[in-house]
Amino acid sequence: SPRPERPRRVVLKLSGEVFGGGAVGVDPDVVQGIARQIATVTRRGVQVAVVVGGGNFFRGAELQKRGMDRNRADYMGMLGTVMNCLALQDFLEKEGIETRVQTAITMAQVAEPYIPLRAIRHLEKGRVVIFGAGAGMPYFSTDTVTAQRALEIHADLVLMSKNGVDGVYTADPRTDPDARKIDHITFAGVLQKGLRVADQAAFSLCEENNLPMLVFGAQGDETIVRAVSGEKIGTLITA
Ligand code: UDP
Repeated sequence: SPRPERPRRVVLKLSGEVFGGGAVGVDPDVVQGIARQIATVTRRGVQVAVVVGGGNFFRGAELQKRGMDRNRADYMGMLGTVMNCLALQDFLEKEGIETRVQTAITMAQVAEPYIPLRAIRHLEKGRVVIFGAGAGMPYFSTDTVTAQRALEIHADLVLMSKNGVDGVYTADPRTDPDARKIDHITFAGVLQKGLRVADQAAFSLCEENNLPMLVFGAQGDETIVRAVSGEKIGTLITA
C-alpha cells in the first residue's frame, strides 16, 4: 500500500480511553509511555500536534442518556479532555520536550487559547502542541476536531490511535471470527462498508481535502513511533 514517507507534520489523536488505560481517570504509566514515544518522534524531527479525547472522564451523549442537558454535558466532556492534556504535557516536559497546550475554551491559567498560526510556530520550533477542549462546541467530537486541526495547521497525516483494536477490519473483530484487518482502503470504501473507526465528519473532512489517515492500535510496542516511521502498521485510509 502507498504508505506515506516520513511525514513532516502529523496530528495524533489520542482517545481518552487510551489515557485511562480503560478506567476512569489518568494512568500515569500509560501517559508516560505515550510521552516517551512522542519525544522520540519529535527528536527525529517530525512535528507533532496532539488532539486529546476525554472519554475516560465524560461523554456528553452518555450523560444525556442519564438525564443531563446535552450542551452542559458536552462542556463537561470538553473540560475532561483538558485534564488529559495537562497530564500529557507534564510527562512530555519530563522527557525534555517543550510543550504548549492550546484549548478551544479559554482558560488562561492552564493553557493558551487556540491560535493556529501560533501553533504552527511552536511546531516549527520543535515544541509539541496539545489541543484541548475539542472544538469548544457541543455536538462535536475530538475525532472531527483532529481532522479540522490537521487541515488548519497543514499537517500531512492524521494518526488515529485506537484503544483495543489495531486497525480497520472487514467486520467487527470482536463478534465476527472471519474479520480481517485491512491494510489500505479509501474513505469512500470505509463509508460504503459502514466500518466504524472514527466519526463520519472526520472521514468527510479528510476525504474532501485529500488528507491521509492512519488508524492503528495504541497497545503494543512503540506503535506511535512505528506509525510515524512509515512501517506497515494499522490501516491507511486515503481519498
Ligand atoms: N466534546 C464536545 N465537542 C468537541 C469535542 C468533545 O462536545 O468538540 C465532548 C463530547 O461530550 C464528547 C466528550 O467531549 O463525548 C469527549 O470527547 P470524545 O468523545 O471525542 O473523546 P474520546 O472518545 O476520543 O475519548
